[in-house]
Amino acid sequence: MAKRKILIFPNASLRRKAERVVKITDRTRKLAEDMLETMYDAPGIGLAGPQVGVMQRIFVMDCSPKDGDADPRVFIDPELVWESDEVEKREEGCLSFPGQFADVFRPAKVVATFLDIDGDPKEEEFEGIHARCVQHEIDHLNGKLFIDHVSLVKRQLIKRKLAKEMQERRERK
Ligand SMILES: [Zn+2]
Repeated sequence: MAKRKILIFPNASLRRKAERVVKITDRTRKLAEDMLETMYDAPGIGLAGPQVGVMQRIFVMDCSPKDGDADPRVFIDPELVWESDEVEKREEGCLSFPGQFADVFRPAKVVATFLDIDGDPKEEEFEGIHARCVQHEIDHLNGKLFIDHVSLVKRQLIKRKLAKEMQERRERK
């Protein structure tokens, strides 16, 4: 396994739409392993292909509780096929926005179809933090980011704070 570099906003790859994987190869499996390693190392609970500069429709996540067993998941060519009318407010962050968080409203439950790492088609319902993560990561595959779900004022604030944070990190080096 090898750790990959996580791209930080406003990297242009984060705004591009990723391509379907369709055929799962050894390269896909290696990519999934690398993405899981990169996500755990960050640490984060989700990571999508475009965030490591790979424009493929793949994401990994692990929303298990900190004191519980790890639950590494790989989603290939995921599609949201249903979402609840009920929406829920939750704080979101993103590995491409280090140190930034915002309350985001999204459907509380969703159903997604996807291929697992063995290429088997799955359909699964998600709720709570899992539903949140699945929606956030599928957004990434479409070039959409969590700041697109907040007010313009809040978005500008996050962009400014992130730029400052990254500047400080560079100066610390
Ligand atoms: Zn993200």
